[in-house]
Amino acid sequence: MKQYLFDFGYLQQAGPYDNSLDEETISAIKTYQKTFNLQDNGFLLNNQTLQQILLPRCGVPDINFEYGFSRTNYLSWPKGNKWLRKDTKLLTYGFAPESNVSSDMIEVFKNALMRWSTTTMVLNFTEATSYDVANIKIGFYISNEGVEDVVVGDSVIILQNSYTSGVIRLNASKYWLLPTDKYPSWEDDEFDLETGAMHQIGHLLGLDHSFETDSIMYPIINQRKVDISDSDIANTNQLYNDANYGNFGSSASSLVTSLFLGFAFLAMFN
Ligand SMILES: [Zn+2]
Repeated sequence: MKQYLFDFGYLQQAGPYDNSLDEETISAIKTYQKTFNLQDNGFLLNNQTLQQILLPRCGVPDINFEYGFSRTNYLSWPKGNKWLRKDTKLLTYGFAPESNVSSDMIEVFKNALMRWSTTTMVLNFTEATSYDVANIKIGFYISNEGVEDVVVGDSVIILQNSYTSGVIRLNASKYWLLPTDKYPSWEDDEFDLETGAMHQIGHLLGLDHSFETDSIMYPIINQRKVDISDSDIANTNQLYNDANYGNFGSSASSLVTSLFLGFAFLAMFN
């Protein structure tokens, strides 16, 4: 339980953990319950809470994490669209050769990228000439230890040779269904590929988890959900369709306004 709360941003203190129910853990459980709108019926670890932590979910933390690389760690969770070069209009994607991604699966990712492209109204995606140079790298990996078993996938930003790229890591020990597969009677460990793709691309484009259940960015991933919700559109527009993204207009005055807003934005975060 403590490892789970730590992995997803609710508990600050890293392990190893003992079984004591300390103040910090109690507070973390309460924050978790509040975040997911779970009922508080007087029992700290009520059934609803215990069932919730068994549900398949995304590995990106829900709260309390920053974007950044340290000298020893060249991986970061995605946070906002800071890893993209300013004014990026085109991103390339590629599939890890060792994952042997089928053409049907590639098609699913293409559709998902197309949906997000339409939503940002700024970004376009094209397949990279090789996986190594792709901005968005997609692959399937085994991660099955402890808490990791509930994680169906995640995304990280990697820094390599002073270039950053976004990596989507889907859990290869789950069975990923294509849109043509049977719905909605899923077996255990069966997940909808398009749903997983939509969610992780959302992270790489800059969206955090949302706790509105109709959002693509809701952390629990256990049903097919590929339509971008109104709140997702609003959040995306905030990232891509204001002056901060550098979407400068053609007239000189709008350029000046954009520059001014750009500097004001930088000043706010310095
Ligand atoms: Zn997520």
